[in-house]
Amino acid sequence: MKILVVGTGAREHALARALSLDPAVTALHAAPGNPGIGTLATLHAVDQLDGSAVAALATSLAVDLVVVGPEAPLVAGVADAVRAVGIPVFGPSAAGARLEGSKAFAKEVMAAAGVPTAEPRVATTVEEAAAGLDAFGAPYVVKDDGLAAGKGVVVTHDRAEALAHAQACLAKADGRVVIEDYLDGPEISLFVLSDGVDVVPLVPAQDFKRAHDGDEGPNTGGMGAYSPLPWAPADLVDEVVERVARPTIAEMARRGTPFSGVLYVGLALTSSGLKVVEFNARFGDPETQVVLARLATPLAAVLLASATGTLGTLPPLQWRDDAAVTVVIASGGYPGAVRSGDPITGTEDAEALPGVHVLHAGTALQQNAAGDDDDAIDGAHLVAAGGRVLSVVGVGPDLAAARAAAYAGVQQIELPFSHHRSDIAAQVADLPLV
Ligand code: AMP
Repeated sequence: MKILVVGTGAREHALARALSLDPAVTALHAAPGNPGIGTLATLHAVDQLDGSAVAALATSLAVDLVVVGPEAPLVAGVADAVRAVGIPVFGPSAAGARLEGSKAFAKEVMAAAGVPTAEPRVATTVEEAAAGLDAFGAPYVVKDDGLAAGKGVVVTHDRAEALAHAQACLAKADGRVVIEDYLDGPEISLFVLSDGVDVVPLVPAQDFKRAHDGDEGPNTGGMGAYSPLPWAPADLVDEVVERVARPTIAEMARRGTPFSGVLYVGLALTSSGLKVVEFNARFGDPETQVVLARLATPLAAVLLASATGTLGTLPPLQWRDDAAVTVVIASGGYPGAVRSGDPITGTEDAEALPGVHVLHAGTALQQNAAGDDDDAIDGAHLVAAGGRVLSVVGVGPDLAAARAAAYAGVQQIELPFSHHRSDIAAQVADLPLV
């Protein structure tokens, strides 16, 4: 099978890595990819938001499947453009991706499907937003209606900060905000594959959204993740499939916009039961890095089954008994304005450790950059080129071992001014796996 992966992040590197380990995959391409993906796939300098360019590339390469990683191309209709040239594509149509592209739309679908979630209020003016804040009270939850790279949500006790965020979102063209009930309780991410009709859940993971240890600091795209969740209820996956995934997929089909690809269900286990915090229309980053590290079933046929409406014929997925932990190394300044161009060293040393692999996100290759020759690719050195730079993944027989491996890998890597959290999976590391 020839496959084209669209995207540039550590999630796409994780997908490319899993596909490269699948004996059914004979050729791997990426558009535009990143230097890490470039060690596994042929890179093509194509704009990932340009549907006709991606479709033309897929046609010229005669690939059997296109896998679209990030939300922005999906919302921009890249999957539709590829489908229109007759090539199977893993990822929803633009109409399906609205589940992520508009939080107000997602809430409307959840209400129609009877999916448990926080009560929302949609505001289009600052007055409506202020009234919403006062109706719900603190802690305030204010969400940009549109895509914001994981940074559109502010949760705060400070009414002025909540209102300022609402104001900033409303200042954008067609700006809308969603204000909703605060959901207490631990969060879980569950990816559910769909082909528009059938659903196949993967295994749950937890990510760490805040920038600093102890869940301090601003929300980010995600600073680390682990799987499995030894504390999660045994029937969690079944409950999410029955109460959330099936009704949502059925509602999208009823509307004439069937959803295929991966429905990312972000959940809170609240004191009044399970509630959906958010839907995304693609794999989550960094949870994908740990979920795919645990998947034993070869990935290509699974993604193809979602793309071709044949998930129902797929044998049950197999999972390794191992645990996985990933720690994100971010550039100085992230999630605000970030530094770029600083040299990265030690990735090879990290990967030489047992149970460790390193996935690239915001990296670039630069001729003449400072650095360690071990990290050079074709004579060029690796430098930071984005907010989240690397995801270091540790795999081991339990969470403590996986965590130790991930942090041993992080220790090997030098990136001036970078930061990472030191408490990823710390509280669960000693819990026995069930
Ligand atoms: P979202 O983009 O909707 O997932 O929001 C990002 C993060 O904000 C979530 O992972 C939560 O940590 C937090 N968050 C979102 N909605 C709520 C809510 N209703 N109550 C508490 N925290 C929330």
